[in-house]
Amino acid sequence: KKLGWALVGLGKFATQQLIPAFPNCKKSKLVALVSGSPEKAQQIAAENDIHPENIYDYQNFDRIKDNPAVDVIYIVLPNSMHAEYTIRAAQAGKHVMSEKPMATSVADCQKMIDACQKANKKLMIAYRAQYEPFNLKSMELIKSGQIGKLRFLTSDHGRMLDPEQPEDKWRANKELAGGGSLMDIGVYSLNAMRYLTGEEPVEISAMIHSDPNDARFKEVEETVAFTLRFPSGVLANCSSSYGYEGVKRFQAFGSKGSLILDPATDYYEHNLELKLEDGKHEVKVQEENHFAAEMDHLSECILENKTLKTPGEEGLRDVKYMMAIYEAAKQGKPVKV
Ligand code: NAD
Repeated sequence: KKLGWALVGLGKFATQQLIPAFPNCKKSKLVALVSGSPEKAQQIAAENDIHPENIYDYQNFDRIKDNPAVDVIYIVLPNSMHAEYTIRAAQAGKHVMSEKPMATSVADCQKMIDACQKANKKLMIAYRAQYEPFNLKSMELIKSGQIGKLRFLTSDHGRMLDPEQPEDKWRANKELAGGGSLMDIGVYSLNAMRYLTGEEPVEISAMIHSDPNDARFKEVEETVAFTLRFPSGVLANCSSSYGYEGVKRFQAFGSKGSLILDPATDYYEHNLELKLEDGKHEVKVQEENHFAAEMDHLSECILENKTLKTPGEEGLRDVKYMMAIYEAAKQGKPVKV
């Protein structure tokens, strides 16, 4: 059985990555669209065999509660709008997938969790890397001791922000984005450090730099460097930036060698390498459409009443740590979390 999904927001990511992934799903089917642009929605509906009656806009969205074809609502809007639409979706009696970052404040994350709990609906955060085979393999290799005792990690994510592009206009706006490179892509570095160690950080230090002469960074930050201390003693050095292009990697250093995944969080390309005493080893893993795997995970957890791997609580933790990163940078000293 396939559950019916509605997409809220038909922007770049939804149209270029998520809609094309649905045919790869075994348990999820795209059945409804929510958009501010009727022409765009009608065209996408026609192309994807979606009934025109299943098109909603942001005003009549709440009527989706009367549509039994829709089981799950996937929120793919600018960051600060995830909370409102998650809450409205839960109130409409639907399960919810929200894009990352979960929200732009810890309070909003908590409201989202509470609304879904009250409605007795599942809330999942779209941490696609945790459903991606190379990232899963990296977790397994570290956990099984392939690089010995894990001591240190690094992760970097950078891409040039271009506010001329519609998808980057709101990213330069603090109100909609909640922050700059950290909220957008630094969250991948942060989340990876947590899933690779299997631990929660206890202390965070950070520095931020934004080019004062660059108009893109009037409201949101350019580059963030942050360090996490984990209870086991593992340290992680991370960066995020809107000032360098095409970086999406992590490395793990252990007592017997290191593991490098670069790119780590690309949509389609991954490169996994182990460097051990006897030399370099490329680790081959079968690529898989991880957007489909991620969506099917939520459908499966609903159908079989299973526990989610990346629930709202997982998104809340990252938002809490990102707020601590901003605070540590502001104070100029480490913050305990
Ligand atoms: P986008 O700008 O292309 O899409 C956002 C959509 O929201 C657009 O269709 C826009 O019309 C609509 N919208 C509704 N109200 C709006 C408003 N007030 N201001 C601006 N847009 C409004 O952006 P995107 O890159 O598709 O990102 C959407 C979300 O998806 C973000 O939360 C982003 O972090 C997330 N995302 C996740 C991944 C991933 O790999 N998981 C990749 C890209 C984006």
